[in-house]
Amino acid sequence: MTLQVRTASVEETRDVGAAVAGLARPGDVIVLAGDLGAGKTAFVQGFGRGLGISERITSPTFTLVHVYEGRLPIHHLDVYRLDQVQEALDLGLAEMLDDGGVVLVEWGDAILPVLPHDLLEVRLTLGDGDDDRALAVRSVGQSWAGRLDHLHAALTPWVET
Ligand code: ADP
Ligand code: MG
Repeated sequence: MTLQVRTASVEETRDVGAAVAGLARPGDVIVLAGDLGAGKTAFVQGFGRGLGISERITSPTFTLVHVYEGRLPIHHLDVYRLDQVQEALDLGLAEMLDDGGVVLVEWGDAILPVLPHDLLEVRLTLGDGDDDRALAVRSVGQSWAGRLDHLHAALTPWVET
C-alpha cells in the first residue's frame, strides 16, 4: 500500500517526516530511497524534530551512523558508501533494532536483505520545479499496514488526491 505525497520545499519534507514520527513505535525501520539531494536527510531532520530531538541532524555519510535521543532513540544510517551488505551487519544492526528505538536508513533499499520484512519505505524523487519532490510512502509487512489509516490522516496536507 503506497501513499503518494508531494512537497514544494525542504521545510515541507521535514514536516512530512515529523508527521510520520508522530506514529513511530519502538523497533520501527524506515528505509529512505532516492538520489543524492532528493531529501532523505531532510526527512530524517523532520522526523527527529517530531520525536522532540533538538540536536542538529546531519548526514552520517562518512560516519555511517548517528544516534539521537528523543521520545524514542533514533539510529540514523547512511549506507551509500558500504561496499557490502555484510558491512551493515557489522555496524550492529541487530543491536540497533533491539534497542527500542527507530532505525532510519538512507539508501536502505541497498540492504533490504538484512533488514526486517516489516518496514516503511519512503522513496523520494525530484519534481518539475527545483524545490518539488514526490515521496512514495509504502508500507511493507504488517507493522505499518495497521497504521496506514493514521498515516494517511497525518499526511493529508501533502497526499495527492
Ligand atoms: P539526500 O539526503 O537525499 O542526499 P538532503 O536532504 O541532504 O538529500 O538534501 C536535499 C536538498 O534539496 C537540500 O539542499 C534541500 O534544501 C533541497 N530541497 C529543495 N526542495 C526540497 C524538498 N521539497 N524536499 C527536500 N529537500 C529539498
Ligand atoms: Mg543524505
